[in-house]
Amino acid sequence: MTAYLQLRLNIVMTCFALMIALVILILISPIMAAENGEQDPSIIKIASLDDFPPQYFLDKTGKATGFAIDIMNEVADIAGLKPEYIIFKTWDEVQLALKNGTVDVIPNMGITERRKEFADFTLPVETFPVSIFVRSSETEIKSAKDLTGKRVTVVKVNIGYVLLKDNKSINLNYAVNAQEAMMLLLSGYTDAVVYPRPVIESLALKSGLSDRMKVAGEPLEEVSRGIAISKGRTELFNTLNNAVSDLITSNDYKEIYARWYGGIDEGWTTKHLSLSLGLLVASFLAGLILIRYQSLAKFSKELKSRIVERTRQLKESEENARLLFETSFLGIAEHKLIYDDRGLPKDYTISNVNPAYYHILDFITDTVEGKKASEVYGTGEAPFLEEYSLIARGGPPTELELNFESLNRIFRIFAYSHKSDSFVTVFEDITERKEAESREKGYNRFISSLLSAIPIPVFYKDRKGYYIGCNTAFTEMMGPTSEEIKGKTVYDMAPKEIAEVYHQKDLDLMANPENQMYEFKIKDKNGITRPVIFAKDVFYDDQGNVAGLIGTFLDITDRRNAELALQKKEEKYRILASELSRANEELSQYAFVVSHDLKTPLRAIHNYSTFIAEDMSGLDLPETVRQDLKGLSKAVKQCQGLVDDLLEFSRIGRINSDLEILNLKNILDEVLEGISLPAMARIIFNNDLPCVKANSILLKQVLTNLITNGIKFNNSPEILIEISGKQISESTVEIMIRDNGIGIDEKYHQQIFQVFQRLHTRSEYEGSGVGLAIVKKGVEIMGGSVRLESTPGKGTIFFVSLQAPSEAET
Ligand code: ADP
Repeated sequence: MTAYLQLRLNIVMTCFALMIALVILILISPIMAAENGEQDPSIIKIASLDDFPPQYFLDKTGKATGFAIDIMNEVADIAGLKPEYIIFKTWDEVQLALKNGTVDVIPNMGITERRKEFADFTLPVETFPVSIFVRSSETEIKSAKDLTGKRVTVVKVNIGYVLLKDNKSINLNYAVNAQEAMMLLLSGYTDAVVYPRPVIESLALKSGLSDRMKVAGEPLEEVSRGIAISKGRTELFNTLNNAVSDLITSNDYKEIYARWYGGIDEGWTTKHLSLSLGLLVASFLAGLILIRYQSLAKFSKELKSRIVERTRQLKESEENARLLFETSFLGIAEHKLIYDDRGLPKDYTISNVNPAYYHILDFITDTVEGKKASEVYGTGEAPFLEEYSLIARGGPPTELELNFESLNRIFRIFAYSHKSDSFVTVFEDITERKEAESREKGYNRFISSLLSAIPIPVFYKDRKGYYIGCNTAFTEMMGPTSEEIKGKTVYDMAPKEIAEVYHQKDLDLMANPENQMYEFKIKDKNGITRPVIFAKDVFYDDQGNVAGLIGTFLDITDRRNAELALQKKEEKYRILASELSRANEELSQYAFVVSHDLKTPLRAIHNYSTFIAEDMSGLDLPETVRQDLKGLSKAVKQCQGLVDDLLEFSRIGRINSDLEILNLKNILDEVLEGISLPAMARIIFNNDLPCVKANSILLKQVLTNLITNGIKFNNSPEILIEISGKQISESTVEIMIRDNGIGIDEKYHQQIFQVFQRLHTRSEYEGSGVGLAIVKKGVEIMGGSVRLESTPGKGTIFFVSLQAPSEAET
């Protein structure tokens, strides 16, 4: 029996041990998975900002919190995802993180067209108006246009700032957050605050200050926010979008909204109705009672209820003020002045500070309440004693900047007095902002020196077309300096018809932000219109929206003038060429007519001289007369030769000079048939001569003249004419005619191509001096050229360049 019990006990113990082991295994499995480096697919990485209340900020433990975070947590919960937050400092960082995949989503992001390029947005999770808030007593500001000339506070990076930053007519100033903006409004420092309406309303409600301010006019804009998801993550998008759709119709959503913005107006519900009815009945009864007790009792009761109500209001307002004080992101400290024996302020005690005070002044480790400022800050004299004394004794609220050099930190302080001899400071650490400003200033200085150094005019304008500045080269050409041009538009700078074109081009560029280039004109500071080439491009703000444009132009007056001069010259040459061609034509006509008309009388003289010689043949004439008759006959023959050559020369310019593909060898064969060769002359050429693009009549004439000259001006016992030809480029064929004749001195190489230019007398060599002129004219008509190389006594080579047939023509 004992053994049996023992066995059962063992079985129970074993089962128990197994169960414990199983539980431990289940508990540690996620840890093991994490250690193995596995990524839980249900984790969703979410971007959050560290300081953008009420959407995102960090709570006291450094955890992300805010309206956007609560919404995101709820959406993730519905979608079955585990949120993991990554905190960033700026919007730029957040957007970059989404683009490069560091995070999967950005909760509650303003939905804009530009952002849709890199993110998909779920249904809006909130839509709110951006409104103008003024003090309750304000009567002048009733709409946005009444802000002109007023002091208006916005929070940088907030939509209000984006909407108003370019409006030059407003005296714009900045607060760190909505709380500070509200404080600046109520203190009278600013006339209006422009900010998302629910945020300010919720803050005002919490601090019991709702009756001190109101909304003026219509909202400036309606803004929608949705959850931004990396583009292309369709599955994640659908999951989150469905979850958002579920959430916004649920009570959870209303609760979250109420938590951050102070409740949604649900309209006139049954609950309201019964409450109102109850109130109506109660007031009716109260009326009856009042009629019955018209006495002192009535007065006493009224007084009592007023005291109760007033006490309640006071308590509530105190509670609100306490809340604001406790939760403010700004340091708040209350102080009391300490006077010396002569009644002069010598220090001040710190009587009360909020938690943010210690958070900002993290170098203070002990409590400061009740201590003197000179001791707490270790600055010898208490900081700003003089200024604070004035404020504490009735002076106006003042803004100060304190540079704590020993700590390397800068603070912005807003100080005001709430009771005699006391003052309150509201402050923030602006070291980082100042450093950024100084970096920006340095960068701006660099840009401005760079722009000054650029020798071509540069200008820049904001989105609305107002000039922001220009460089020195611009001022030199157009007149206004960078300061003077600020706030002007192109209509202030150029005549209307030019300005309209500029303006339209600017609008085109803003709508379609690509580099823009065009030729137009400007009117310079001396009123001279100059042709220019514009090159312009846009620049973007922190949010990635087009913020303005930068442009430059190049004065092309010189280029234009050169183009015009060239055009004029071309026109002049064209006229000259046509006149020349007409003159040539007339000359050739004239030469033709003259030589043609001369032929008849010459023939008559020749005939008459022959008749006279025949008639006188039987007579015994003196020898001189016989010689004269011979001379006459010879002169007439020469004259006929000249006229024939002249006719040939003018005929060359009149024949149909169409070009065709010719086989050079065939042409040469034909040419040689027409030449009677002296016995001691030899003409040689290769059979593989190229084809040329030429006119056969002209080419034959050219070759005939060159070959006969080579034979004629030759004293060698054996006359040798060598002809060759080759294609020397894609478009040119060169024919060479080489002789072993008397050669030509280089100084005559040009002259010999002119009409009637000869180097010898007729008694030496026959001829009229037209042969080479015909060669040159013929070659040029065919689109070619002719040149020669020669050494006197050693022969001559004539080079004739003609067109080669194109590949398609062969
Ligand atoms: P022509 O032959 O009627 O004299 P051209 O116009 O043919 O007239 O020639 C002009 C001059 O050029 C000739 O008078 C001659 O002095 C010179 N000339 C032409 N061809 C040759 C050549 N192949 N060798 C040497 N001299 C030449």
